Amino acid sequence: MPIYEKLMGNPFVDAGVCAICEWLGGHPQPNEITVEDLQEVVQQVVPLYCESEYRTQIRFIFPNSTLTQHSKIQKGIQSLNEELKSEWFHQLCKVTDLGDTGDCMGCGRRSADFHLKKTEVPLTGSGSLRNFFPLFAEGVGYCAACALAIQLAPLGFVRSGGKFLALHSNSWKAISYWTRTCIEDVISRGSRNEFTGFFDPKESKAQNALFYMVRKMIEYEKARSDGNITMQVYSFSNDNRKAELDLYHLPARVFNFLRYAHRAQYAKNWYLIVRSGYRRQTKKGFQNIDSDKTNPTEIYQKSTNLVYNNLLEDKSIRGFFIDKLARKTRSNWELFSLYLQEVRTMEQTRVEKIKQVGNLISECIQESKDDKRLKQLERAKSYGECRNILRYVIRERIQQGAPEPLFSIDDYMEYLFPASDNLNLTPWRETRDLLLFRIYEQLHSWLQEHGYVEYEEENTSDADDAS
Ligand SMILES: [Zn+2]
Repeated sequence: MPIYEKLMGNPFVDAGVCAICEWLGGHPQPNEITVEDLQEVVQQVVPLYCESEYRTQIRFIFPNSTLTQHSKIQKGIQSLNEELKSEWFHQLCKVTDLGDTGDCMGCGRRSADFHLKKTEVPLTGSGSLRNFFPLFAEGVGYCAACALAIQLAPLGFVRSGGKFLALHSNSWKAISYWTRTCIEDVISRGSRNEFTGFFDPKESKAQNALFYMVRKMIEYEKARSDGNITMQVYSFSNDNRKAELDLYHLPARVFNFLRYAHRAQYAKNWYLIVRSGYRRQTKKGFQNIDSDKTNPTEIYQKSTNLVYNNLLEDKSIRGFFIDKLARKTRSNWELFSLYLQEVRTMEQTRVEKIKQVGNLISECIQESKDDKRLKQLERAKSYGECRNILRYVIRERIQQGAPEPLFSIDDYMEYLFPASDNLNLTPWRETRDLLLFRIYEQLHSWLQEHGYVEYEEENTSDADDAS
């Protein structure tokens, strides 16, 4: 039996096991890790943890650990190094292979050798406060192998806004790519004698840091982008004064869509869409910051991004694909339709039908040599109003001698305005925005040439309406 396996289930243990594999160059699989491998990792990582910046940061992961105790630090780095090594080797000596059952909280397949507390496992209770623990014991039972893995987990943590992000996923590959991004950076800085702490993408919002990591993970995947990856990201601080935890969930359909969005042919458009989502918190609420093209990068790194937040909260981001004031789109129909199908799980036939109707309305507007109908469609405030405008377009098309109807009654019922359980929530705004997208895409140049575009600057509504 091996010492570890992939995805044993405890987020901190899995992160630690992955950190061990990646520290060893990604060569061993978890079930191939040997005691000698662990010895090698301990010998190399202990001196790193003893560096000043790492010690400062470890205070927020393992408070009161040897590395943070003033009296021990005062004895000098060499002594600190030896003390930590002896602690970790003490755990290492007790490491055994996985069994069938056991009471370890990390693997459930070995017996618990240690009772660990907040100092050794983030977000666990404090020792004497027994009500934090099952069975009123002082701490939670972990086996030596899991205890050691947890000590190494910070190598795969991402720093953001004074907290740490840890990933758990259904995919071992996903955890590997995430951890590799962190460890390659730690090792590369170490080789230049820059011991500045755990990986920091300089994104102070956890959500933005998460999407930064997704981009890195997709780069690692390269052509082998298969499999459904879901991500749970824990943003936490295990500070002595207060422990904090936020949980973010990225569904597989969003990850799949981002794989497309980061491809060379869409990357530029996706960048524009993401940029339009940045908002700065002011006394008056969120303010769009993308209108000022001279903003330095740091402003974005500190700002909330509504595109990212909406994707994590399962809210629509269709509004960010469109610049309504400038009457133009930020991407082509292809990327937009990928978003609608992958993330919003919209049927392809519905997407195609709306595109087709959008084309016909565009032709009708161009033929009429007037943007009146477009203006009306943009300003529609109710389902009834929206229907009326479409009725005007139908009439106009008949006058223009169009050979085919705008849509059939079946198209109308099934694809344009499908029935909803709640009549007040007929998704007419969604359909209207999709039509506007297609009309802007088809007619932006024509609208510009005829003086129907007054604004060129960016402006996007903060969120899409639910209805
Ligand atoms: Zn265990």
